[in-house]
This record gives sequence, structure tokens and C-alpha cells, in this order.
Amino acid sequence: MYDVTIIGCGITGAAAAYELSKFRLSIAVLEKENDVACGTTKANSAIAHAGYDPRPGTKMARLNVLGSELMEGLCRRLNVGYERTGSLVLAFDGKGMKAIEELLDRGQKNGVRELEIISAERTLEMEPNINPGVLAALYAPTAAIIDPWGLCIALVSSAVVNGAALRLNAEVRAIERKEGYFRIETSSGAFETRRIVNASGAHSDKVSEMVTKPFFKIIPVKGEYFLLDKSQGGLVKRIIFQPPDEDGKGVLVAPTVHGNLIAGPTSERASDPEDISVTARGLEKVLNTAARSSGKIDFRESIRNFAGIRASAEIDDFILEISAPGFVNAAAIKSPGLTAAPAIGLEIVKLLHEDGLELIEKEYFREYRSETLFRDMSMEERSEALKREKRFGRVICRCETITEGDILAALKSPVPPVSIDGVKRRCRAGSGRCQGGFCGPRVHEILSRERGVRMEEICQYREGSFLLTGKTKEGGAI
Ligand SMILES: Cc1cc2nc3c(=O)[nH]c(=O)nc-3n(C[C@H](O)[C@H](O)[C@H](O)COP(=O)(O)OP(=O)(O)OC[C@H]3O[C@@H](n4cnc5c(N)ncnc54)[C@H](O)[C@@H]3O)c2cc1C
Repeated sequence: MYDVTIIGCGITGAAAAYELSKFRLSIAVLEKENDVACGTTKANSAIAHAGYDPRPGTKMARLNVLGSELMEGLCRRLNVGYERTGSLVLAFDGKGMKAIEELLDRGQKNGVRELEIISAERTLEMEPNINPGVLAALYAPTAAIIDPWGLCIALVSSAVVNGAALRLNAEVRAIERKEGYFRIETSSGAFETRRIVNASGAHSDKVSEMVTKPFFKIIPVKGEYFLLDKSQGGLVKRIIFQPPDEDGKGVLVAPTVHGNLIAGPTSERASDPEDISVTARGLEKVLNTAARSSGKIDFRESIRNFAGIRASAEIDDFILEISAPGFVNAAAIKSPGLTAAPAIGLEIVKLLHEDGLELIEKEYFREYRSETLFRDMSMEERSEALKREKRFGRVICRCETITEGDILAALKSPVPPVSIDGVKRRCRAGSGRCQGGFCGPRVHEILSRERGVRMEEICQYREGSFLLTGKTKEGGAI
């Protein structure tokens, strides 16, 4: 019997697990996929928003601002990519000017620090490659770029190191309320728990309805992106927005913590919560809108397109509450859910406590620091690493300079990858310009060898996405 079971291991579930694992509790995290951070947490703009966007008085506004304040310290402690770049919302006309003034007002009401409207001259001095037609900009120095899946993995790894049980490939299919506890049926067996946290993202309405009467519906809204090569990474130094419209924050152009440039997202109602296809129409919209922010982006340098699903609901706020005794919803966590995650984790602990959960702090809590890549180590660290593991000397991913030692370290971590994309999320092998064209087969071999499973059983991403089938005449995999 677990004290608390968290359903879903995106950034929300991981943040909850991290905070709860500081207490003497038995905790389980159930995730339907074969890895963590496979939902919206892996496909978003990767921005720690300053907090001027959400409506004042909402949970979103409060948790955005608090999350943004907590984010830097958390990322530094867990060795996760974070860069406080600041953001600019560009105004090109009278409507844009009015919009940035409104955002300034909202931001001040929300308690965002250091917000100001700056002149066109100052904006262009800061960002010489943006559209020279800019009239003014809202400058938010506290905005930052982060590594979303890196943070999710580090948070849940910390929880696991402190005793939480992570069950992958465990899709929750039914929940039955018993006398003082719940019985959760999953695709890989049943679990009993005294309390539940529903952090299942775009599926959170369905999971909630397993316990409560239907009271909200998730409306999946897709956002499509371009990820551009590092040749474009230095084009802007800050996150560049245009004024928000009825579709939300609009198309941004931003550097990533890994040195690339990201442009997107669109905002289109999706057919279902798993629809992460990209479309010619969507990408064209990103291209045309981003070009208004900077005409200098070379979209021929695109290395990947992807899409993420916003878990929107009818109400314009997070659904973060005790929805039934023993059942906390952390549902409809749309943007700025990533930024707010450190604060949402704390809020979930507070709600569980209000629901009667006894909280006794552990005497010893250890945070898990993500591995530093060989390429990012100092010379002394490199020579130490090579003494421990000579395979740090063998480069597997040429684009990103990722060594076999880096991959082995990921495979030995508390939440090891099982798929090729899982390796990519942990140590960037396959994230470079060739997108795994060169290193993919080598990563495949290493995964097979280290996991002790046949190459035919290794997946690209989710269960069933096999790369190899059949045998050669000699009996090896083809
Ligand atoms: C296009 C786009 C851009 C965004 N940009 C930003 C940004 O720049 N900054 C920001 O702060 N926020 C941003 N967001 C929002 C942010 O990404 C989300 O708020 C956040 O990732 C939500 O995390 P989550 O853990 O709630 O959901 P998810 O990451 O979707 O995790 C839910 C998990 O639950 C699992 N699950 C679902 N059903 C079940 C089940 N029945 N049983 C077991 N497991 C289940 C899923 O597999 C998944 O792993 C953006 C969102 C989108 C779509």
C-alpha cells in the first residue's frame, strides 16, 4: 500500500514526486510510457516565463511567478541547463504598444520584478538581428531558457534515489475507491494507495473521471515548431515574443540551452491528445510569423520539426485542488506549467497535507545531480573520468561530441533510458545536425549490449516503435 501514488510522470508528476520524497512516505509514480517526460514536457518552448502573461489573481499567475523564482536554484542544484536570458515582447504598431502596456500592468500586479518598457533604440542595441521596424518592447530580465526534460528526469531521479517507486509502462485504466484507500488498475498490474495525485496532462480529464464526476474537459491544442541548427543559435540572445493574440503567447524565437534556435509554436485545436504530427500549414505559419520578429532566420538550417499538445480546459487556470477525499487533481496544466512546476510540486504537498496526509521530514534527503557530459568537463574532470571509464574516449555522436562513456553513465543513472530517444533526452546523442543519422545505429548497439536485450527489441521511442525486424541468413539482426 502506497501513501501517495502520482499518475503521470511529466514535469508536474516529477515535481510532486521530488517534493513528496522529502518526507517519510511511500510513493509510487505510474507512467503509461516506457520513459518519463514523454508527454507535453518533451515538446514545448522550454521557457521559464517571467509571469506577466497569466491573469492576475489566478493560480497560474501566482505559481508562475513563484516557479520562476525557484527555477534557477533548482536547476543549479540538479545540474540542469538554465540560462537567465530575459525576454522581449516586440511592439510594431499601436495595437502592439497597447498590448505591451497591458502586459506590463499585469506583470506588475502579478509581482514580476524588473519589468519595463524599453525604446526601439535600446531593443535594437540588445538584439541587432530583430526587425528594425520595432517601436518598443516589454523587457523581462527574469525570463530564462531551460532544459525541460532534463529537469523532469533530474526531479524524478531525485525522488527515486530517495525511495519513490517509478513504474513505467503502467497505464492507469481504472480506479476503485475502497474503505480508506484506492485500488488502481494499470496495464501492468494493480496498485493500492491511500492518496492519488492526478498529473496525467492531456489525459487528466479521463483520469479524474475515474474518481470524480466529470467537471472539466481537456481541449487538446497543438503547437508546432522548427528547431534550427546551432548555426542559427546566436541570432538572438533573448526570448523574442510578439504581442499575444486570441491564440495565446504567439510565435516566439529563442535560443535554447543547447545552443540551437527554436521558432514556434502554432495554436491549433488537435484531433486527439496524442496527435503530435506536424503539418505544412502549421510550419508555414511559424515561418511567416517568426520572420516578422527577425528576417534573418535561415529556415534551411532546420534540423527538426515537432509538436506538443497543450492540455487546455474551459477555465483559464490550472485545476489544482482536492477534487475528492484522497484525490488531488493537478490537471489542465498548460503553459506556464513548466515554469510553475517547482511551485506546483510544493502546492501539491500542501493540498495533500490539507487532505490529512501526515508529513514528517526525512532526516536525510539527497538531490540527484544530472551527469556532466564529457565535453563539458574541465581537463581535470576529463582525466579523472577517463581513469574510471576509458570509453569516455570514444565519440559516438559526432554532431554533439557525445562519448560512449556519457551514454553508459545515462544507462547507469537512477532512471535509465530504454529507447534510443531516451538516450537522446539524457545525453544528447542524436540531437545534433544529423539527428542520429550517424550515431543512431551505434546507440542502438550500445543499448542492446548494456540492457542485455536483442537489437530487435530496442525501440526508437515508445513501446512497439521497433527499428529492426527479421534476421539475415547468418542469424544476425538486419
Ligand atoms: C506548444 C507548447 C509550448 C509550451 N511552452 C511552455 C513554456 O515555454 N514554458 C512553460 O512554462 N510551459 C510551456 N508549456 C506548458 C508545459 O509544457 C506544460 O504545462 C507541462 O509540460 C505539463 O506537464 P505535465 O506533467 O502536467 O503533463 P505531461 O508532460 O503531458 O505529462 C503527463 C504524463 O502523464 C502520462 N499519462 C497520461 N495518461 C496516463 C495514464 N492513464 N496512466 C499513466 N500515465 C499517464 C503521460 O504519458 C505523460 O507522461 C507549453 C506547452 C505546449 C504544448
